[in-house]
Amino acid sequence: MGVVPLTKPQRVLPRPAQGPAALGDRTEDAIFLKPMPSYRELLQQVKSEIDEVDAAHAARLLGDDDPPLFLDVREQDEWDEGHIPGALHIPRGNLESRIEGAAPDRERPVVVYCAVGSRSAFATKTLEELGYTSVVNLAGGYTDWKRNGFATQLSRALEPDQRRRYSRHLLIPEVGEEGQLRLLDARILLIGAGGLGSPAALYLAAAGVGTIGIVDDDVVDESNLQRQVVHSTERLGEPKAESAKRTIESLNADVHVKIFRERLTSENVDRILGEGWDVIVDGADNFPTRYLLNDASVWHGLPVVHGSIFRFEGQVTVLKPGDGPCYRCLFPQPPPPELAPSCAEGGVLGVLPGIIGSIQASEALKLALGIGEPLVGRLLLVDALSTSFTEVHLRRDPACPVCGESPTITEYIDYVEFCQAARTQV
Ligand SMILES: [Zn+2]
Repeated sequence: MGVVPLTKPQRVLPRPAQGPAALGDRTEDAIFLKPMPSYRELLQQVKSEIDEVDAAHAARLLGDDDPPLFLDVREQDEWDEGHIPGALHIPRGNLESRIEGAAPDRERPVVVYCAVGSRSAFATKTLEELGYTSVVNLAGGYTDWKRNGFATQLSRALEPDQRRRYSRHLLIPEVGEEGQLRLLDARILLIGAGGLGSPAALYLAAAGVGTIGIVDDDVVDESNLQRQVVHSTERLGEPKAESAKRTIESLNADVHVKIFRERLTSENVDRILGEGWDVIVDGADNFPTRYLLNDASVWHGLPVVHGSIFRFEGQVTVLKPGDGPCYRCLFPQPPPPELAPSCAEGGVLGVLPGIIGSIQASEALKLALGIGEPLVGRLLLVDALSTSFTEVHLRRDPACPVCGESPTITEYIDYVEFCQAARTQV
């Protein structure tokens, strides 16, 4: 159970037959002598083969500790006007193609409903044929449910243009309309609008993340353009945060961009992180900022999608407070400078931050949607020269000075000094 088969959506619909083939169809119709049952007869037939519950019974089931899945098979506009709280919405016409992905557990009891209980009767029958073992139809449907005064929920819905823009998300059962609305409500903070922040900003904006924060105090330099694809030649000399904001806004007007034209410091970190972010994407290019961001995110309880790059090599991991190691568990001390030159010192293949930043965006979207398995406790090492991806499992350090059992660092320190001290010790 729980395994969703990878089935490709059908792209080409069969066309109605024309010419000779159409004649063939008619011939087949002609030899079909048995009278077709009317809709009413068909409905009666189906209703005699399925189980039904009335609204009062369904309401009791909904109140259970472990309620059945309520499945709404009405059309989008009907769903938008109100539905049973917590119900899953799959219009009747998409039932066969979507139900497996949305409800893979065929043993879980299902209550199917539509407006009056007819379309859902056919849907109930279909689910049984698909192997769902405990399916009942809500007799009288949503109309009867409402008439009895049971709880209803109004849904926020995507606008028609959003439905078109995000249609490829809506087709994925793990995202769907609910997930897209969640993304539109999501708030993701990017530390840095450079090599990693550029692809992350573009993909998060394209995906419809409603609020993107950008912390960057730098300006666009000619040497940035080899990899920082959110900027352009005409933006040379412009603050990176503003350049990124303009690019994002021209890509997707659904996204609100909040910029912080400042370097993250002990003085401003609580103010910036305190603005209700769901996820932080770390694209910092220096160690003081990384350690500062780590300590602050542990204390604020915010997940950080960490990325770093050097020449052909990159690393990604998700640091989720309380659920895996923090940056200090992995690297208690900054590495000596000869082992950790910056991109400005050591160089980087232009596309590498595109790969790493895109993986960071993917992790951030998963965290915002609450789906999949984020890279918590796992460090992904990418080598673009050999094209290899290696995964290292990481543990939380119980003796970690920040997230450990008896932390010794409980307030912000001088991070520049801390990193310099580590460097001069070697
Ligand atoms: Zn730690």
